[in-house]
Amino acid sequence: MAAADNFQRLHQRHAGRHHGCQLAAEHRDVLALDRLLALAERRGLLADPDRIDALLPQTQCGLCKTSGCRPYAEQMAQGEAINHCVPGGVPTIQALARLLQVPAPEQVDPDYGITPSHRLVAFIREDECIGCTKCIQACPVDAIVGAAKLMHTIIEAECTGCNLCVAPCPVDCIDLVPGADIPLTWHTPQNESAHALQQAKDRADKARERFLARNSRLALAAEALAKRKAEKAKPALTDAERSALMIAAAMARSQLKKVEKQLSALQARGETSEVLLAQLPELRAAAQAAQDALEKAALA
Ligand code: SF4
Ligand code: SF4
Ligand code: SF4
Repeated sequence: MAAADNFQRLHQRHAGRHHGCQLAAEHRDVLALDRLLALAERRGLLADPDRIDALLPQTQCGLCKTSGCRPYAEQMAQGEAINHCVPGGVPTIQALARLLQVPAPEQVDPDYGITPSHRLVAFIREDECIGCTKCIQACPVDAIVGAAKLMHTIIEAECTGCNLCVAPCPVDCIDLVPGADIPLTWHTPQNESAHALQQAKDRADKARERFLARNSRLALAAEALAKRKAEKAKPALTDAERSALMIAAAMARSQLKKVEKQLSALQARGETSEVLLAQLPELRAAAQAAQDALEKAALA
């Protein structure tokens, strides 16, 4: 609502009892309220979690004490401090402050960690690896290849250096080592070429994609597992239900046989019946379905 409209309404309301001072004070209140509403609306737009997430490095390391970049973005949209992202460092804080139009803290909150000076990637000492797959389960961006009892290796181009695979390794054969010379973030650190900054941005976008794809895959697997468990937990059939299934299967078989016999008898006489022939596919399907149901019940 425009301030002028509000003022006009107030003015009309007060027409006839014209107290100039009171009206002026109310006008000021309305203007202040309008400004606050406009600011709140603007903040709401700026504090869009998608836009905030787009500024984060997508390491998915959880050092901000969340389960990944997106949850931290959502927290910031609700007013959480903007200096908890350790890999993002000061350039990310500044980018967040510009977006959210809030003052930029000078450094990452030390309670969360210290920003590394160089991009790190994991390295597996492959001759020591026992192929337990624990690192694969821990990697948020699917940057490790391997299979049970086989040697594992890191896809360096996909590794975000999040460190999450190191602790689960039972034989301690994963190290974090300096990776290819790509800046940690693309938020205009000094002395970086446009190409290097673009590489950092592309890497983050790709990490986000891989993280989301992995989460979807895990969610589907969890759903399938829950379904299987629910199926197993189903109560066994009662004797009456089993015998009903047996009777249904026997009846379906017998109807099918009856029609088949009639057709054979006709065939022996060099005749046929279109009506009986038309019934055959349906009777066969019914007999098969009844048999399947019976076998499934026997397995349960
Ligand atoms: S990269 Fe930053 S925002 Fe993302 S999980 Fe790590 S600390 Fe949190
Ligand atoms: S390989 Fe290790 S350090 Fe690299 S992204 Fe996966 S979990 Fe993180
Ligand atoms: S956790 Fe360690 S031992 Fe297990 S597969 Fe990974 S690197 Fe190999």
